[in-house]
Amino acid sequence: MAARRWTSATIAEMLASLERSHGKSRYIPRFDPMDELISCILSQHTTDAHSFPAFTQLRERYPTWADVVAAPVAEVASTVRLAGLSNQKAKNIVGSLQKIHEQFGDYSLEPLRAWPTAEAMVWLQTLPGVGPKTASIVLCFAMGRETIPVDTHVFRVSWRLGLIKEEIGEVKAHGVLMKLVPQELAFAFHTLLIQHGRTVCRAPLPSCEKCNLAERCAWLKSDGPGKRQREMARTRKRSLKARKAKKVEVPGGSVNDSKN
Ligand code: SF4
Repeated sequence: MAARRWTSATIAEMLASLERSHGKSRYIPRFDPMDELISCILSQHTTDAHSFPAFTQLRERYPTWADVVAAPVAEVASTVRLAGLSNQKAKNIVGSLQKIHEQFGDYSLEPLRAWPTAEAMVWLQTLPGVGPKTASIVLCFAMGRETIPVDTHVFRVSWRLGLIKEEIGEVKAHGVLMKLVPQELAFAFHTLLIQHGRTVCRAPLPSCEKCNLAERCAWLKSDGPGKRQREMARTRKRSLKARKAKKVEVPGGSVNDSKN
């Protein structure tokens, strides 16, 4: 599953194929950069259904970012508890706000708009709780920069196609994909791979029969989905066998768990 055969031209063709099945991706700015950053920190290791209400509560309780910094961290944590890992997230939010103020003299990321993307990526990752995914999201969705946030779908589809190696993990995948994917295609790459990962190239088993990338897919060529299917069938068989072994016949003919 080497990445060698992927070139700018074949990546562009692959995205054109995905566009035909999933439609064209449009860039729509979501939040201002500060809101994007803080909502992203809250969204780590949880779902939007939990992180969005936590973000709303944070903004309602503290009208300004200075109010968040002035509040006790334990109080901030209790305000965002819906997002989970609230003590750590509160510390990261307050720490990030302090560092932003130290750097720019304000609770604002607007000055980053004048920075080159690569430098802004590096600086954002010096903030507590901010890794390449959060930094990429802020730059991509709040500033329209050509970065590739690598979430679970982008990562999975990328390694299955053979663009990257699975062993490198999501964090390193950012740098590798940024070098491989032409800048002007970064946004389309991010959004189309997410759609493909959600609807066709799903975990744990993809629907390869519906995929218009099958011809180009390294994982399919190496029988990855077939092997995965057989592994899953074996695991199911083993767990059924283990469950049966736990059960014993009891007098009267009924079957019960041996612990009862
Ligand atoms: S062929 Fe299958 S594994 Fe490969 S990208 Fe398509 S859905 Fe995913």
